[in-house]
Amino acid sequence: MNEQHFQLAKTLVNESYMKQAEQSRRCREKLIRKLLSNRRLPKDGWDEVTIRLFLQEIASMDSNNFIGNVGAGEREARIFSNIVRERNYSLGHGIGRSGDISAIQPKAAGSSLLAKLTECLVLDAIKVAGLQSVKRALVVPVATGMAMTLIFLALRTMKPHATKIILSRIDQKSCIKSIQAAGYEPIIIDNQVIEDEVITNIKSISNWLELEADKVLCIVSTMSCFAPRAPDDIVNIATLCQTFDVIHVVNNAYGIQSRQSNVWMESASSKGRVDIVVQSTDKNFMVPVGGAVLVAKRVDYLLKVAQIYPGRASAQIHIDLLVTLLQMGESTWRELLKQREELFPVLKNEFGKIAHKYGERLLETHHNPISMAITLDHLEAKGFSVEFFGSMLFTRFVSGTRVVARNNSKTKVCGIDFPNGFGAHCTNYPHSYLTAACALGMKKDDVVAFCNRLDECFQEAYKNLAFHRDET
Ligand SMILES: *Cc1c(COP(=O)(O)O)cnc(C)c1O
Repeated sequence: MNEQHFQLAKTLVNESYMKQAEQSRRCREKLIRKLLSNRRLPKDGWDEVTIRLFLQEIASMDSNNFIGNVGAGEREARIFSNIVRERNYSLGHGIGRSGDISAIQPKAAGSSLLAKLTECLVLDAIKVAGLQSVKRALVVPVATGMAMTLIFLALRTMKPHATKIILSRIDQKSCIKSIQAAGYEPIIIDNQVIEDEVITNIKSISNWLELEADKVLCIVSTMSCFAPRAPDDIVNIATLCQTFDVIHVVNNAYGIQSRQSNVWMESASSKGRVDIVVQSTDKNFMVPVGGAVLVAKRVDYLLKVAQIYPGRASAQIHIDLLVTLLQMGESTWRELLKQREELFPVLKNEFGKIAHKYGERLLETHHNPISMAITLDHLEAKGFSVEFFGSMLFTRFVSGTRVVARNNSKTKVCGIDFPNGFGAHCTNYPHSYLTAACALGMKKDDVVAFCNRLDECFQEAYKNLAFHRDET
């Protein structure tokens, strides 16, 4: 509705009412103008009407929605079902072109604009969270593991003779598979156990580099992980990468939500080499699974990844992210980050209390700012299966915890032998344990309910033990 439209409308409806309507419309236009010029998170989140209005404007810029458009090609964003059209806000062209996922599409000015704006807002959100030195963000419609694979494939031309990738040990299959899927051999550097914590073995990484730096494409470090593993010693890894001229890729799956972790990342990036950092969209921004955000100081590394992506891609991740970030705005994003930081010690305290009540204890994992763990040693010593204990929690509708039994038996994972078991991120971890995480979006009520149900599980486990003792 432009000025002329409102003038005409005023002859139909009471002028003063129409004036007010026009003012309201101008407010919305101002928000959109600000977004297009600042390219940053709005200070306060937008209301739903404005977001829908904006999405409709964007959709109307794509050729499939042009009035009188005739499609004479094989990719015309034809959508059969109205349910699907509504789910996609009539956006059907996706993003990118066959040669580059971040290229502008001639048929889809709207979708192209949406993709660019999404990357600007995500970059801003990541800066607000504390990664201030990154220069650009690339959103890819694949989750973290696959995004890592894409990066390794993109980096291949930079070091064509490299055959190996160094991975500071993280016992998560997708991390190993992301390397193997790109055709590289993972060199897994075992961690060291210092008191309760599982810590990067810098000396060992350095030894490998001295032997084989020329065969190593990159080092992969991990900044968000289950306790008792600590985030990697990123500063020293970055320094080693600088010294040996090796690329450094960081798996920062859900690390962006931790201020402490971002401080370490910034320090690493100023003292050494941090080339590409990958984060999951669902774990950090409260959207459905499916995407990852890559950030870097050097834009050319991101362009390599954008250019290796074969073909067009779904715009769904971009749409979800843009809508979410517009609705959140900077103030709610900051608030969510703050709430998480404040809830972390609360969960730690309550979790620790339950542990103590049953002869267990909180593992001292000072460096992990998101995940924590309690021992299950006492329970295990009594002959109760700790894996079964984990499933008891699950049947009480507690999801997301993880039980790792002290296990020194040989296993093969992804074709690789782990002579002393897989799961604890190191050889011979001395405890069985249960993890929990205080991640973005968790509420005080969740902490209370979780601890109550954990308490019930312990009670039931010990009741069962007593019952079996009486039987024999
Ligand atoms: C979640 C996660 C992955 C796997 O991520 P996807 O998004 O499922 O591909 C890999 N590494 C870490 C540390 C994770 O937290």
